[in-house]
Amino acid sequence: MQTRDLSAHAVYRAGEGAEEVARELGLDPDDLVKLSSNENPHGPSPKAIEAIREAASEVHVYPKSAHTDLVAAIAAEWELDPAQTWLANGGDGALDYLSRALLDPGDRVLVPEPGFAYYGMSARYHHGKVGTYSLRAEDGFAQDADRVLDAYDGERIVYLTSPHNPTGTVVDLADVERIADGTDGDTLVVVDEAYGEFAETPSAVRLIEGRDGWDAREDVAVLRTFSKAHGLAGLRLGYAIVPEPWADAYARVNTPFAANTVACRAGLAALDDRDHVERTVESAVWAREYLDSELDARTHESSGNFVLADVGDATAVAEATQRRGVIVRDCTSFGLPDCIRLSCGTREETERAVEVLNEVLVG
Ligand SMILES: *Cc1c(COP(=O)(O)O)cnc(C)c1O
Repeated sequence: MQTRDLSAHAVYRAGEGAEEVARELGLDPDDLVKLSSNENPHGPSPKAIEAIREAASEVHVYPKSAHTDLVAAIAAEWELDPAQTWLANGGDGALDYLSRALLDPGDRVLVPEPGFAYYGMSARYHHGKVGTYSLRAEDGFAQDADRVLDAYDGERIVYLTSPHNPTGTVVDLADVERIADGTDGDTLVVVDEAYGEFAETPSAVRLIEGRDGWDAREDVAVLRTFSKAHGLAGLRLGYAIVPEPWADAYARVNTPFAANTVACRAGLAALDDRDHVERTVESAVWAREYLDSELDARTHESSGNFVLADVGDATAVAEATQRRGVIVRDCTSFGLPDCIRLSCGTREETERAVEVLNEVLVG
């Protein structure tokens, strides 16, 4: 037998894990600096670690109350109705819920290029089709409304990423509003704020709720995750915030118990540890500035916990730094063969990465 035709389905290529690379190089994983997946270099919050230990004895029970408690806490944080919080197995899981809720077979989504691969992957899993709008290096990868609207052709979902991975640029709320106004009434504009904590731009939740002088709207949703600023990437926890009028669709599309007990308990503790997030953001801001000023390569201004740098042959540079124990993301798979993306590490990691990269760039 055969699967259905999966030839249009791309294989997701995550940054290589430290363990794999260490094994290849015959090194101790602790001696590697891994700056390829935008993870939190400070780890999870100590409160989350404690909650994970405590949750261990609870895992024989389905995560009903853990799920309810976390949804209530997220809703309180954003001042929303809990029904508007679509909790999922990672931000990626939340993207799947949006696909399931919105896409009929053959419906199209519009995604940025370069951009986050999973938007298109999720659409294809749900029998959707994928169109793109291009962000151009010569315009600083600007994400303005005209660029998106020029490419728009009646798609059911339009994806915006703010801050954008891998370029680091943000979308102003005025542009989000213009895009939502300029698209059909049943086109949903999803603002992916996976790196929202690291940016100064306010969340597009303002547009959903009609706060701070913005008109409330039913055609914008926001994506958030615990993987980046909260340091819980390994637990897989994220959520979409959707407008109240159709929020009840969650009950019809969610995989039962998609977010597990340990993740939910850790997420609850992580939400409570504002200091950890604050320290994480401060350290990322420091690292962004350090990379910008010290790296012997052109860098792009970033509002995320990573920086995109122009290095010439990205694959060769990434391989050379990796041989010296520093793992960075070769952006060739993003369609940027001249660029690498460096996640913001601790001070020590970031300094070491710059030292190694500068040697490689000269060499
Ligand atoms: C990391 C990331 C996500 C979500 O990741 P999860 O680990 O699935 O929560 C979503 N969008 C972008 C652009 C990302 O970089």
